[in-house]
Amino acid sequence: MAKFEKVEVTTDLLILGGGMAACGAAVEAAYWAKKNGLKVTLVDKAAMDRSGAVAMGLSAINQYVGLHEGKNTVKDYVDYVRMDLMGIIREDLVANIARHVDSTVHLFEKWGLPIWKDAEGRYVHEGRWQLMINGESYKVIVAEAAKNALQEAGGEYFERVFITEPILDGDRIAGAIGFSTRENKAYVFRAKSVIVAMGGAVHVFKPRSTGEGLGRAWYPPWNSGSSAYFTLRAGAEMTSQEVRFIPVRFKDAYGPVGAWFLLFKSAATNAMGGNYMIERKDELESWKPYGLVKPIPANLRNWLGMLDVMEGKGPIFMRTAEAIQKIAADAGDEKAAKKKLKELEAEAWEDFLDMTISQAILWAANNVEPEKRSSEIAAAEPYFIGSHSGASGAWISGPEDLQNGQTKNDYFWGYSHMSTVKGMFCAGDASGASSHKFSSGSHAEGRICGKAAVKFVVENNTLPSMDTAAVDKMIEAQFKPLDVFAEFSGKTTDPEINPHYIKPKMFMFRLQKIMDEYVGGVSAQFATNKACLDRALELLAFLKEDSANLAAADLHELLRCWENVQRLWQAEAHTRTILFREETRWPGYYRRTDFPTMDEANWHCFANCRWIPGKNEWEMIKRPMLHLYPKAQEHELVGG
Ligand SMILES: Cc1cc2nc3c(=O)[nH]c(=O)nc-3n(C[C@H](O)[C@H](O)[C@H](O)COP(=O)(O)OP(=O)(O)OC[C@H]3O[C@@H](n4cnc5c(N)ncnc54)[C@H](O)[C@@H]3O)c2cc1C
Repeated sequence: MAKFEKVEVTTDLLILGGGMAACGAAVEAAYWAKKNGLKVTLVDKAAMDRSGAVAMGLSAINQYVGLHEGKNTVKDYVDYVRMDLMGIIREDLVANIARHVDSTVHLFEKWGLPIWKDAEGRYVHEGRWQLMINGESYKVIVAEAAKNALQEAGGEYFERVFITEPILDGDRIAGAIGFSTRENKAYVFRAKSVIVAMGGAVHVFKPRSTGEGLGRAWYPPWNSGSSAYFTLRAGAEMTSQEVRFIPVRFKDAYGPVGAWFLLFKSAATNAMGGNYMIERKDELESWKPYGLVKPIPANLRNWLGMLDVMEGKGPIFMRTAEAIQKIAADAGDEKAAKKKLKELEAEAWEDFLDMTISQAILWAANNVEPEKRSSEIAAAEPYFIGSHSGASGAWISGPEDLQNGQTKNDYFWGYSHMSTVKGMFCAGDASGASSHKFSSGSHAEGRICGKAAVKFVVENNTLPSMDTAAVDKMIEAQFKPLDVFAEFSGKTTDPEINPHYIKPKMFMFRLQKIMDEYVGGVSAQFATNKACLDRALELLAFLKEDSANLAAADLHELLRCWENVQRLWQAEAHTRTILFREETRWPGYYRRTDFPTMDEANWHCFANCRWIPGKNEWEMIKRPMLHLYPKAQEHELVGG
């Protein structure tokens, strides 16, 4: 084995990840840890200032309930999320985040994030729940607050350390192992409690952008399923692994469409000019009551467009030019129109330059001026994100005070947002069934975890034991791809092609092909069935076997090896759960052609799964969907 220094770090609370949720966890945990004389340690695989999904910046905060403004209630937010997710959410988790998210946004502002205000000093909304921000430095501001909080409380943070496996002490989490992506160092973190916040998973499915476009994705390609892998390997029960998210975005560069729909009131049409949202309105009846809700659930909006594409009426265009012309016409005289257009153009460009620079580059490269010519939009490949509009993640306990007699048994087990593994908490993309947290809600959920995890440590203040020999074996396995490369790379003239090993890029292509063709990716028009899923599981098993032969020429490639092993586990959890849920509930995210309709009688519930450590077996579990709030009546939802 190559020579690596073993660095052992012992701490009270270990936070894995350095994104929005982890930064929230750090700020809150540091506060409570200082009061209790405890140490908090954070580990990020990248540099916190620009790590995770907010790396490049954002132009809107998507979750702000505005409770003090009195316009919305927590229940309003729960209703919105429940309807968008076609009825399958944990109301206790969504409500818990919704009641805390405003204070997180106020913290962002205090730390220096510019939030747009109107002449009366009120926040400017983009939609009911969204606030406009100057967000180029959003992540830098949030990370700085987290780092300061950790340092002031005597904690520490490690950057460019990639976490691979959990360390367990029976049914309790005991820490994690990882490696430096820059130095020959192996890390062993021992902790009394762990917060998992390592983001979602991208590039599990074959992306639309391949070849020279490889690496472009809507969600950041560096989020590779570390949260799912870590929690699965710790034996945690997982939920909603079938609920992938597919955004419709400007084609090939994934530029945001929200501002065009909301600010510019732009329409999307098929190639013949037909507006599928109008022409296919009747289809929404088939997905009642969710199909009749306003706003129409994201997956159903996708679905109506997909029906056009499947009928050969594509491409789908965002009618940007018409929208701009209409705005100009409505402005009155020519001078007013010019002024309005200038304002809107500045907003539009900011939207793209904030979070999708590649869209601006692609338009420039293709001679597209969106104000003069329509631009193609398309459904992207599927992503696994518990924080945005997907719902996959760990099955976690809700807060005690929100439970009722019905929910308490099923949704509460001691500590708010703790997984089924003792001492292991999950936030942001890592926790499931609590969709629509976005950047602000993920930070708020991190804060909830930070406080609860410190409480756990105070009440369970013993360092779990660690089997050193077993950990050394894990470290050896962690570096194996380097050894495989060292041993066999000389046996062929091209080190990329070798019968003794597989390089991570090729491994990823194989994974993406399986998922795309059999589990309903772009090329399968998001459709699948039992036969396809069974075949996918067979091929995934072969791929898993081959993961023992992954080879890495250097530390960077070692990182790539692990990212793809983690993607593979996310893929397997997804495939098994799609197979388990015998219905189609989110047709714009995926369709089971053998069960093409929604089945409220049998599947108005959570589809959970668990990989059982030691046995290497999967368990599939149905969990009940219970309400905290009275179920909204159909007439309240329609047009509501
Ligand atoms: C294109 C795009 C547009 C979006 N638009 C908006 C918007 O307009 N408004 C809004 O509010 N939200 C938006 N979001 C959503 C928001 O960014 C996410 O909800 C939020 O970032 C999720 O937080 P998280 O902490 O779970 O994950 P992230 O913020 O992604 O953080 C994950 C962290 O884990 C680290 N990590 C990953 N693997 C490992 C490992 N193995 N070891 C150690 N560390 C690891 C990463 O480096 C990173 O620090 C958008 C996201 C994207 C990508």
